[in-house]
Order: sequence, then C-alpha cells, then structure tokens
Amino acid sequence: MEPEGAVVDGEKAERMGFILGLRQRGLRDVAVLRALELVPRPLFVDPALRRHAYDDVALPIACGQTMSQPSLVAAMTEALGVTADHTVLEVGTGSGYQAAVLGHLAARVVTVDRYRSLVAEAQTRFEVLGLKNVTAYVGDGMLGMPARAPFDRIMVTASAPDIPMALVDQLKLGGVIVMPVGAPDEPQSLVRYVKEQAGRTRTEFMKARFVPLVPGAAATL
Ligand code: SAH
Repeated sequence: MEPEGAVVDGEKAERMGFILGLRQRGLRDVAVLRALELVPRPLFVDPALRRHAYDDVALPIACGQTMSQPSLVAAMTEALGVTADHTVLEVGTGSGYQAAVLGHLAARVVTVDRYRSLVAEAQTRFEVLGLKNVTAYVGDGMLGMPARAPFDRIMVTASAPDIPMALVDQLKLGGVIVMPVGAPDEPQSLVRYVKEQAGRTRTEFMKARFVPLVPGAAATL
C-alpha cells in the first residue's frame, strides 16, 4: 500500500524537485529552503512561462523587469539572515516572489516598487496566499520607506553604483543590507553590509546581473 502522502499532484512534485535542486546546488539553510517550499512560484510567473516556473532561471515580468532565478533568491535570502522577529524592507517588489519568501521568515515585510501595476498584482498574490504580514507600496525605494523605518534587514533587488544613503539611515544598528552594487551594464557584486556601532562591514559574496534602480516612482503603469 502507498504510504499517506506518496501520491502528490504535478505542482507539488515539481515543487519538491525544485527544492531538491536547490539543495543539490548547495543551499543548506533549512529555514530558507522551507520558505521557498511554501511559495508557489507559478503564481508569480507570466502564464505563458508557466512551464519554466520551477526551472532555475530568471524570468521576464511586466514593465520590462525580471524576477531572479530561484537559486539567487535563495542565496540572497540566506545572506540576509532573517529571523522571525525582524521587520524587513525589500526595494524592488517586481512579481512579489522574493517578498513572499521573506514573508515566511520575518515578522513583517514592507516592499516597494516604482510601478503601480506591479505593486497591485503583487499585493493580490500576497492576499491569495494569506500572507497578511507582507505589504507592497508604490514609491521610490531609493528613499527607503521612512514611515515604516527603522528596519532590521533591507534587501534591494535592483542594482546601483552604491547603497543609497537613505537605506543605511533607515537600518537599525546591527542590521544588514543585501544589494547588488555596480555599473548597470555588467555583472554586479552582491554586497552584504552590516551597520555597526563603530562603522560597517562590507562583504562581496557573489556576482549577479540585475536591472538597475531608477529614481522616482514611474509616471505610467
Ligand atoms: N524582487 C522581484 C524582482 C525585482 S526586479 C521579484 O521577486 O520578482 C527589480 C524591480 O525594482 C523592478 O520591478 C523595478 O521596477 C524596481 N525598481 C527599480 N527602481 C526602483 C526604485 N527606485 N524604487 C522602487 N523600485 C524600483
């Protein structure tokens, strides 16, 4: 007789294969693996690309933007070191996938994007998933979210030549920022920044290519 739970539907089987793949690529953080397992990536993907939802690839989303490949989402989430009492800011909501993953690890997630349509779609996805602790806002994330600051952790999922000062200002002491830093047209360095009493520590932990941060909320879309 089949043990209970041995028969899984296609989506669940795909999701389990996906988690196994991440483990094989070296992701060991059990809490991060669990958070990734809890978020159905197909919900965040353009229906035309559904068959690639569990491939380890970046995918195009609306407004000419891109959602990162899951192994990169995993590596950045692991580097951020989120715990259940943290308030997290994400700059660059996009599809909402990264924010939803963070929502399973943190107390609260505030995510901001300059495109109204992306924010509206992401917010709907959070509601569908019952992620009541994740809220998306329209705005210029380069200015952070002063009304919701300070933050324990900040993740930026778009690149800039340096970490915006406003984000450092809105980070608690001991807090961490993870962000791709570098020129827009070449692979950027993923930086882990720790704010300390007597300064800061900056570590570069991998290279990746991101869309750039663009100042100001978008006038259209
Ligand atoms: N984290 C997303 C993907 C982010 S793509 C996901 O999981 O799907 C980068 C996003 O950053 C884009 O949606 C882009 O609109 C946004 N962005 C660029 N400049 C911004 C700014 N100044 N403020 C807020 N969002 C910005």
